[in-house]
Amino acid sequence: RMSAQLLQGKRLAQRLRAELAEAVAQNHARTGRRPCIACVVIGDEADALGYARTQKRVCQRVGIDYVLRNLPRDIRPAAAAAQLDALRQDASVSGLILLTPLPAHLRDARLNWHIAPDKDIDGVHPNNLGRLAANGAPFFTPATPAAGLALLQETGLELEGKRAVIIGRSDTVGKPLAFHLLHRHCTVTLAHSRTRNLPALAAQADLLCVAVGRPQMVTGDFVKPGAAVLDFGATYLESGVTGDCHPESVVPKAGWFTPVPGGIGPLTNAMLMRNAWRAYLQQIQ
Ligand code: NAP
Repeated sequence: RMSAQLLQGKRLAQRLRAELAEAVAQNHARTGRRPCIACVVIGDEADALGYARTQKRVCQRVGIDYVLRNLPRDIRPAAAAAQLDALRQDASVSGLILLTPLPAHLRDARLNWHIAPDKDIDGVHPNNLGRLAANGAPFFTPATPAAGLALLQETGLELEGKRAVIIGRSDTVGKPLAFHLLHRHCTVTLAHSRTRNLPALAAQADLLCVAVGRPQMVTGDFVKPGAAVLDFGATYLESGVTGDCHPESVVPKAGWFTPVPGGIGPLTNAMLMRNAWRAYLQQIQ
């Protein structure tokens, strides 16, 4: 019986973190300065606070400062935008992240437009997302898709001409991932909550990418035998972090699979740190 090869992000993440830690330490010895990430979380959403905790831990290991700004859940859009604008002026902040999910009343508020593009280490400002769409060369590309692509590269899979189905169309995962895969000559379908006959559509994919945030929604029925399945989901439950795929039925069918935890998550944070380091270097020039 076939069983998927598991794509673990840990090893690659460790290497990236070690390289960054070394560069950051050398710079600190020379200048007495460190890069700093400011992270804005609005409300008390468990997933967003869970990310923030993990990011802080990874920052500490790499030597990057991390400041969490937790804004009240009922903050008005203009006030939230003003906070982001202020962080643009703050010279001690090299990278800025606004964690999702946002409270419902802020989802259409275009807060991403208020993240200074040169501090936009998660690549969500239209300057970065637009550059990615236009020519595949943004200054910052979102960390999560970058992590998925790095693991995909480890499979040695030829992407050209492959059918890719992405479930989820967020600005941080699904959409940028679609552009990356398009630039690599995949035939890309972006699916979402209004998509019809999702399991049948997904089962046509050579590459199935899942970024929904519904634990274990994708079962073996969604998977073409031998497909590469990237699980971007990370829902924090009391029992730990859970992905969007149901591993017991997906693993026997897939050719490759990114487990949760251990797959894309650890690498995402390393990619974010790498972007923060690049932002810092750019700003001190
Ligand atoms: P999001 O902004 O909430 O987007 C979720 C997407 O899933 C939306 O496009 C939504 O469709 C779609 N969706 C919801 N229910 C669906 C259903 N029943 N069938 C098909 N599509 C459905 O989420 P996100 O920020 O992209 O995050 C997605 C997941 O990735 C979450 O678990 C998050 O925690 C995780 N994540 C992980 C990392 C990491 O480092 N591994 C980083 C970021 C996020 P509509 O657009 O139609 O509403």
